[in-house]
Formats: sequence, C-alpha cells, structure tokens
Amino acid sequence: MDDDLLLLIISSPSGAGKTTLTRDLLEHFQDLTFSVSHTTRKPREGEVDGRDYHFVDQARFSELVAQGAFAEWAEVHGNLYGTALSEIERCRREGHRGLVFDVDYQGARQIKAARDDAAGVFVLPPSLQELRARLERRASDDDATIERRFNNARREIENYGLFDYVIVNDELELAKEQLRSIVWAERARRFRMAKRGEALLRRSKVG
Ligand code: ADP
Ligand code: 5GP
Repeated sequence: MDDDLLLLIISSPSGAGKTTLTRDLLEHFQDLTFSVSHTTRKPREGEVDGRDYHFVDQARFSELVAQGAFAEWAEVHGNLYGTALSEIERCRREGHRGLVFDVDYQGARQIKAARDDAAGVFVLPPSLQELRARLERRASDDDATIERRFNNARREIENYGLFDYVIVNDELELAKEQLRSIVWAERARRFRMAKRGEALLRRSKVG
C-alpha cells in the first residue's frame, strides 16, 4: 500500500451497464481517469481510438504481450483485451487521484493479485431476461455476438466472489449513487487516511 492512487475495477456481464455507470462516475469525479485498454475487437460505431480503446490487430497485441507491456490481459468473448502498464504511469504523470479499469473477471483477478489495495466492483443485471433485452437494445452487435455474450454471462456472474462490492443495476440513478458512494468509502479507507492523521499528531506535539 505504498500508493495513494485509487485503483477501481468495474466488471459485469456484457450489457449489465458498466460502461454507462463508468462514464457517469468519470464525469462526477473529474480527478479519476479511465484506463484505456488495448483490444483486437473492431470499433463499435461512435467509439474513438485512444479514448474508448486502443484498437490493435492480433500481431501488435502479441508483440505487446511478448514485450511485457501489459499489467493484465485476457481473451474475452473471442477477442483479446489488455491493460498496458503505461496507463498507470500516465495516471501518475497527469496527476489524477485514481484509475478506473473496465475489465472482465480474469483481468480483475490479475490486478488484485498484483495490487491487493485495488477495489473491485461487480455490476449485476436485475435479471437475465433484462440483460438480454439490454444487449439487444444497445444494437451495436450482430445477433451471433449478442448470443455469445449472453451465453458467457453465467460464467462471469459465477465470479462475483472475486469482487469487494456488488451493485444491481436496476434503477440507473440508484446504481450511479451506489458507485459514487464506493469511491467515497474507498477514499476514507484507513490506510489512505493514515498520513493525514499522523501529520495532525506530529503538529500537535510541536505546537
Ligand atoms: P456494458 O458496458 O456492461 O456492456 P452498457 O453500459 O453498454 O453495458 O449498457 C447496455 C445497454 O443497457 C445500453 O443500451 C444502456 O443504455 C442500457 N442500460 C444501462 N443501464 C441501464 C438501466 N439501469 N436500465 C435500463 N437500461 C440500462
Ligand atoms: P466490450 O467489447 O463490450 O467493450 O468489452 C467486453 C469485455 O471485455 C468486458 O467484460 C470488458 O470489461 C472486458 N475488457 C475490456 N477491456 C479489458 C482489459 O483491458 N482487460 C480485460 N481482462 N478485460 C477487458
């Protein structure tokens, strides 16, 4: 726990709403930044290279793996995704107070293995029926992709136990509030506040 940076992992089965919730969180806490992952997935309409993902081909992804450039990486729904170590350096360099990772449970496990102080949040849909409806409503993937993502939901939900917090994204405003509350709670963790307490004690000794 050598570091004051808040590392916040947000995971969910595809379509449960983690992108929606993450965007809201980053708007609310301007001192947090989004960890931009690398992926071999093709961009969806509206996605911007360098903002939503670094879109790369398989050869480039393998090169980065060989160079040891990733803090974690995994195959998810048939594509490769990874978090570059340089994202953590960027976060420090730009002076942010925390980094938000949108990664699957395999990525969450790898980040937690390296950084025990990282906080993990798992977002559940209210029901599997609603999950499917959201995947269809998002209308950004073809039918086979929707089917594949829906069929993977069970395995992802089985891994909720890797996470520190679980939110049900039913009523959106409530889920947003819950996620913001987690950031406040994590910021108040004793190990993050200990320096403040000790500084007050040192001052009161002298004065
Ligand atoms: P994920 O990033 O987990 O795959 P998205 O954030 O893309 O999910 O959300 C999937 C779809 O569900 C989007 O169309 C989004 O607008 C919608 N959605 C998100 N949260 C809710 C909610 N609480 N109620 C209804 N629809 C929602
Ligand atoms: P999507 O294709 O919908 O953007 O993301 C699909 C899945 O990949 C989601 O579960 C998302 O959290 C996960 N994902 C995105 N980036 C990363 C990453 O860098 N590492 C890992 N392990 N998973 C990621």
